[in-house]
Amino acid sequence: MRLSNRLRIGAHTQGGKVSHMTRYVRPVQALAVCALCVLIAPLPACAQQDYAAQREAMVDGLLEAGIITDQRVAGAMKAVQRHLFVPTGQQAAAYEDHPLPIGEGQTISAPSIVGMMTEALKPKATDRVLEIGTGSGYQAAVLAKLVRHVYTIEIIETLAVSARERLQQLGYKNVPVKHGDGYLGWEEHAPYDSVIVTCAPDEVPQPLIDQLKEGGLMVIPVNEEGWAQKLYLMEKKGGEMEQTELADVIFVPMVHGGEE
Ligand code: SAH
Repeated sequence: MRLSNRLRIGAHTQGGKVSHMTRYVRPVQALAVCALCVLIAPLPACAQQDYAAQREAMVDGLLEAGIITDQRVAGAMKAVQRHLFVPTGQQAAAYEDHPLPIGEGQTISAPSIVGMMTEALKPKATDRVLEIGTGSGYQAAVLAKLVRHVYTIEIIETLAVSARERLQQLGYKNVPVKHGDGYLGWEEHAPYDSVIVTCAPDEVPQPLIDQLKEGGLMVIPVNEEGWAQKLYLMEKKGGEMEQTELADVIFVPMVHGGEE
């Protein structure tokens, strides 16, 4: 899968924007749906229904654009309520294809990036996946619908605590959240079938390679010159990582070595 030319990313954003699908629900359609709801149901139900329609349209847009092709991934993204992973003031924009702030100077990735990274891992129901950079917990929640266990690590304690609470409240039982430095991986549960990194290191951390199974996949953004970053899909073969470039991206940097 080579998508590098499909994505255009603005500075200080994380993730990509797909030109022909920036808005998924036309205002007129949304108004019509809401007006009907006001007549037949209380307002909160209307808002929920509107989010469900927006979510459906968002995922259909990703399928139409060829960013995701796996129906299991589409199903997971249709099931996870992205608006519950962003601050209340951002919820109205939760189903547009761009990153959103989640506090502490961090962002939740654009849905197209989440879809692309999830699909790249070829998730299987029996997999145990390690995620570095829990953030809001949204990416972990999408993966949790597709694999057996997602072990996720977040370096900012407040984010780790709130993601853990959010995932528990939403009923996810297969996503342990650890507060710590993900550069070091999570040895206790290794080896992993795949590793997903949602913050950008200067080079692939050796502990993450060591904790990946032979034949396992890793999707990871890596810093290049200046602001540039590339998203790679890597496969562990004979202990070495074979890499394929997926896209130009901008993620938040991976913090390492007490730089928090
Ligand atoms: N996957 C997240 C978005 C991640 S944003 C989501 O779906 O919402 C990147 C996250 O990586 C930030 O929350 C940042 O605090 C975290 N991070 C940065 N360096 C890290 C490290 N060394 N270990 C773990 N998390 C780290």
